[in-house]
Amino acid sequence: MKNLKLVAARPDFSRSIIDVQGVKFGQDFVVIAGPCSVETEAQTIETAIAVKKAGAQMLRGGAFKPRTSPYAFQGLGLKGLKILDKAKKETGLPIVTEVVDTRDVSWVGEYADVLQIGARNMQNFSLLREVGKSGKPILLKRGMYSTLEEWLNCAEYILAEGNPNVILCERGIRTFETYTRNTLDLSMVPAVHKETHLPILVDPSHGTGILSMIEPMSLAALIAGANGLEIEVHIDPPSALSDKDQQLTVGQFERLMKKLEMTRNFMKTLSDIDELDALGKPEVPQAMRAASNNSARIEGELKTFADAVD
Ligand code: PEP
Ligand code: MN
Repeated sequence: MKNLKLVAARPDFSRSIIDVQGVKFGQDFVVIAGPCSVETEAQTIETAIAVKKAGAQMLRGGAFKPRTSPYAFQGLGLKGLKILDKAKKETGLPIVTEVVDTRDVSWVGEYADVLQIGARNMQNFSLLREVGKSGKPILLKRGMYSTLEEWLNCAEYILAEGNPNVILCERGIRTFETYTRNTLDLSMVPAVHKETHLPILVDPSHGTGILSMIEPMSLAALIAGANGLEIEVHIDPPSALSDKDQQLTVGQFERLMKKLEMTRNFMKTLSDIDELDALGKPEVPQAMRAASNNSARIEGELKTFADAVD
């Protein structure tokens, strides 16, 4: 892709690992969970405790909500950030929250561990430059009308300001399909891995807008190679002040986390097959075989395989 200097895949195919207080995007499979909006202290802290218990590594929650209607709940602003801070102190979960205005970047950054740039602001170039200057880790969501190239150029804006800590997030795009809220474009996961060294998350909540589709699309995202998920969870979805139809209950989230764990175990078998394939090739140097974590077992499997073929 033209003009991508800093985000483009490296010649040695090495990938960026973005460390947010020990949570390693690009290395671990990271699940960010929490309510669409911070509404009250009790709602946020209860959700934070529950998602942490279920295995989430980071807490999300909007204090500034970009809403279609100016009359809809706009978020609690500073009060919301203070609640997120309390939830962090209570659980130890680092915070992801959206920033919508260049004037807010520095002070929101005092509360947030990761600043989220929402879909509607993906191409807000002054905001991109400002978060670039902040040096904070940035979760850059894909704009709902944006191509991969446009999205990656937005990441380039942030890196060009000297901030290498960008995590991409596919959250669905507008298509002719109206059944779902958006069309979740999972093909972007391998595309992002091919074109860049940045980690990519998937947001199945905004990506589908339909409760029953969140679990299957989360599992599909993991299988497609996503580096993690951002999922909306609420202690009482029907009472939520925003996105009440797409927020998982705590029970639904716990169930999903168990299935993700099982799917990850299954995926280890898949990567073993790739490794086995690579190790089986005569041109693979001995050093690489030795470097393989599983070399002894895989060599054993290779032998069994060779014996069976004989
Ligand atoms: C959000 O994650 O809170 C949000 C508003 O998502 P998006 O910007 O993808 O619509
Ligand atoms: Mn939402």
